[in-house]
Amino acid sequence: MENITDNSNGIILYNEVMSEMEDVAGLLGLSDIYIKRLKKPQKTMTLHLPIMMDNGEIGIFDAWRVQHNLFRGPSKGGIRYHPSASLDGTIAHAALMTWKCAIVKIPFGGAKGAVCCDPKVMSDVEREKLTRRYTWEISPIIGPEKDIPAPEVGTDSTTMAQIMDGYSIFAGYSVPNVVTGKPISVGGSEGRRDAVARGLMYVLKEVARERHIYLFNSTVVLQGFGKVGKGIARHLSETGCRILAISDSSGGIYSEEGLDIDAVIEYKNTNGTLKGMPGTEAINNDELVALDVDILIPAAYEHTINKDNAPTIKASVIVEAANAGISREAYHILNDRGKFVLPDILVNAGGVVLSYFEWVQNKQEFFWQNVEIEERFESIMVTTYHEVKSIMDSDNVTVRTAALKLAIGRVAEAMKYRGLCP
Ligand code: NAD
Repeated sequence: MENITDNSNGIILYNEVMSEMEDVAGLLGLSDIYIKRLKKPQKTMTLHLPIMMDNGEIGIFDAWRVQHNLFRGPSKGGIRYHPSASLDGTIAHAALMTWKCAIVKIPFGGAKGAVCCDPKVMSDVEREKLTRRYTWEISPIIGPEKDIPAPEVGTDSTTMAQIMDGYSIFAGYSVPNVVTGKPISVGGSEGRRDAVARGLMYVLKEVARERHIYLFNSTVVLQGFGKVGKGIARHLSETGCRILAISDSSGGIYSEEGLDIDAVIEYKNTNGTLKGMPGTEAINNDELVALDVDILIPAAYEHTINKDNAPTIKASVIVEAANAGISREAYHILNDRGKFVLPDILVNAGGVVLSYFEWVQNKQEFFWQNVEIEERFESIMVTTYHEVKSIMDSDNVTVRTAALKLAIGRVAEAMKYRGLCP
């Protein structure tokens, strides 16, 4: 049994992320050497993990850990288990993490890890063996002061507990802050679980206030109903938004009056799919994206909003919850059509902010109350949005360009002070 890595989509994503960085570096007046440095990750580990599968065969899984930039502190970034994982895609995601940590002024650089596998068809035992083997192999380059993984697509708090355990066995003592996104019982933080959704809501509420959008009763469609999508749906629903349609990889469901989110979550958790939920109509992804609503939220994978469906979008506000959920071509189309597009590195940064809080609490060996966490969290997300907005207004650029200028400018400043050629 051998997995075959297809790097073609990863190359497309890498080229997009880097050409966008080059454009922004030009606006910031950065010299070519900064561009060259930012195009290459600082450290990359490529692995081929042998795992004894339940049927007695040995599977070999391609895997990577990429540390894109370490100038602002140890690197931080999730670990993805997905069949489409690739090296270039992982580098691109690690670079997005560098921008994301910088935009919210968290003292981390960007990293990402990935294993090319399909966790949905693996048993719990197979996944745990894979996680422990991966941990073993990457342990020389991870650590609380070096590189701190977190959950991402295909991984969760259990995966993080297993990584913490594996790393701690080598260390000879418990090292909780080698990962974030852990269960609370092994050093996780209050509020980490749905941090992406809460961070997104803080930004969306600011935007709604400024643009005179009344969120109560506003209409929303949501693409993707995994860890991130479910959290967003729950928070939107609590705010009084009417979510008319939601999709996952099996298709979508629609209700003219608005979906009952608790019931949808229960149905999805029980059946593993949205398909066939009683009291809803089936809708395909093309129809869903083109619905006449106020807000569209892509929360699935890369490029689900692309040049083919961007021209059909009617929502006036688009919130890119998924990393690289909107292709660069689609961004241009949406901007030209006057849409207000909130970029991934701003709206989904809540995950890394709460990860930082978890890391700090582990370091202090002292845990904060929920209310303390929420106050600090809100302040970071709201301040960041206004910093971005002020660049947008003063430089007359899109939200995405403003966000990247803020983030890449901070990374470049750190590189300048520390020196590029020690
Ligand atoms: P997940 O795998 O739990 O969920 C992804 C969802 O998207 C699933 O419901 C899947 O069925 C659905 N999907 C796949 N293809 C689709 C398509 N073409 N149309 C509609 N739905 C489709 O992943 P997640 O952890 O929820 O992450 C979602 C996105 O958020 C990713 O881009 C990820 O990088 C980003 N993100 C995740 C975290 C995190 O902490 N998990 C943090 C920041 C950003």
